[in-house]
Amino acid sequence: GTAPVMLSVNNLNAWYAESKVLHGVSFDLREGELLTLIGRNGAGKTTTLRSIMGLLRKRTGSIRFKNEELIGRRTFEIARKGIAYCPEERAIFSSLSVRENLLLPPVLQPGGMSEDELLATFPNLKARASSQGTKLSGGEQQMLAIARILRNGSRLLLLDEPSEGLAPVVVQEIRDLILKIKEKGYTILLVEQNLRFARRVADRHVVIENGKVADILTAAELEKSADRIKTYLGV
Ligand code: ATP
Repeated sequence: GTAPVMLSVNNLNAWYAESKVLHGVSFDLREGELLTLIGRNGAGKTTTLRSIMGLLRKRTGSIRFKNEELIGRRTFEIARKGIAYCPEERAIFSSLSVRENLLLPPVLQPGGMSEDELLATFPNLKARASSQGTKLSGGEQQMLAIARILRNGSRLLLLDEPSEGLAPVVVQEIRDLILKIKEKGYTILLVEQNLRFARRVADRHVVIENGKVADILTAAELEKSADRIKTYLGV
């Protein structure tokens, strides 16, 4: 593609205490692109997202967002630059209603979706707007977790395994939703174990193995080696 690079990760190393888990991870993400991080359990996918977001403080190398260095920055500073993170555990407020969950986080940048736009994009949530978080299905919780980060104006979304633990039909709904968001021009870095899900939505795939980048494949290249990748991922 010819779109400018939005995020550039170069020779990223990261540690949990004394344990080094990322060893020189490098990849670029262009504006409007959807890139997946795929790999086995424990390969370092979540750690890569957490490092970008500054949730893991001990990291070296370079992470440039729109040409600004993020290494050394705190999470709140990184969020204010326009990067939003949706963790695997979803972290919605179960005692609050859907609408309250949507409206609670601060708007950090201009250009986020309005409440009306959000409810139009997520019709399931519109129907549940006054329901309490605890009353939602897993799929609805996941939708809410994604909807919530679209209000704050961030244009780069880090999504950790949105399909995790959901029934196949719900996984399809989430997939369609992510494609809808991509069409609105968002740039997305998606951690995904579900290869079927990943290959339907992504432009390119970064294969992470033992904290390193084993391969970077275009969607077409992944299709050619899908069987090998499936065996490799153990799915
Ligand atoms: P998964 O889908 O299982 O989360 P992953 O590819 O996202 O896999 P990470 O969660 O990034 O993998 O984990 C990378 C490595 O870091 C693993 O060896 C894991 O055991 C280790 N690790 C993860 N979280 C911690 C932590 N809080 N403290 C110490 N080590 C951790």
